[in-house]
Amino acid sequence: MRWKLLLAGLVSFGTILFLLWPGMDTKAGQEEEPQKEPSRYAAPERSEASEEAEASAESSREGFSCHKLDKEIQRRISGKSYKPNDYVTFDDLRHIKIRYYGFDGRVKDGELIVNRRIADDVLEIFYDLYCSRYPLQEVSLVDKYDADDERSMAANNTSCFNYREIAGTDKLSNHAYGLAIDINPLINPCIRQGSGTAAEEQSVYAQRDMTKCRGAYKAYMIQKGDYIYRLFQKHGFSWGGDWSSVKDYQHFEKPQMTK
Ligand SMILES: [Zn+2]
Repeated sequence: MRWKLLLAGLVSFGTILFLLWPGMDTKAGQEEEPQKEPSRYAAPERSEASEEAEASAESSREGFSCHKLDKEIQRRISGKSYKPNDYVTFDDLRHIKIRYYGFDGRVKDGELIVNRRIADDVLEIFYDLYCSRYPLQEVSLVDKYDADDERSMAANNTSCFNYREIAGTDKLSNHAYGLAIDINPLINPCIRQGSGTAAEEQSVYAQRDMTKCRGAYKAYMIQKGDYIYRLFQKHGFSWGGDWSSVKDYQHFEKPQMTK
């Protein structure tokens, strides 16, 4: 008799558990938040563990990669774009390799040195430019021109890091931190309002009205709200063409951040 009672008890308990189980399961399911898609352009905070992320970025997109500055690149930039200073170390910088379309329609390899805080954004931006076949004249380190900004601009070279002051001032440029990028600078000159003598003002591309500009590459003048403007804006960069005292149409930058 005891056996039967015990058996009946066990069966009842099992039945109750069976009946309750799907309800519990559903409840648990309902409480689960739907998985959010990670933002495509989310740039994770970089840390010591970022080497793996950099290595994976290297393998995913051919021609696009991000590296710490090795001895060879340190040697290439020392005494040129990199000068001993209290603000920017080699470790703050990244060497980025990219691909781009030239104005001749050919695919070329380019390189940039940027602040590690914007390395992910820069890779994404230049990959987008490449996918969109946005033409760039040249993407070389400014060291090719002995870190001479004037020569680099004259070559229409797109570049980022250069430890230098803002032209005509003793204030460090955001290029000195690797936080500013100049795009096709010959087509997008820096115009200092009212100086009247700057070579840039003589440039055919000083005329920013596309209907009036006579430059052959006027279609690639950066304009407020256009594709490349929106691309940089999406990644948190501001544009020098929006400044009031100086119009720096080639220039996109992020503000300095405290370490
Ligand atoms: Zn600039």
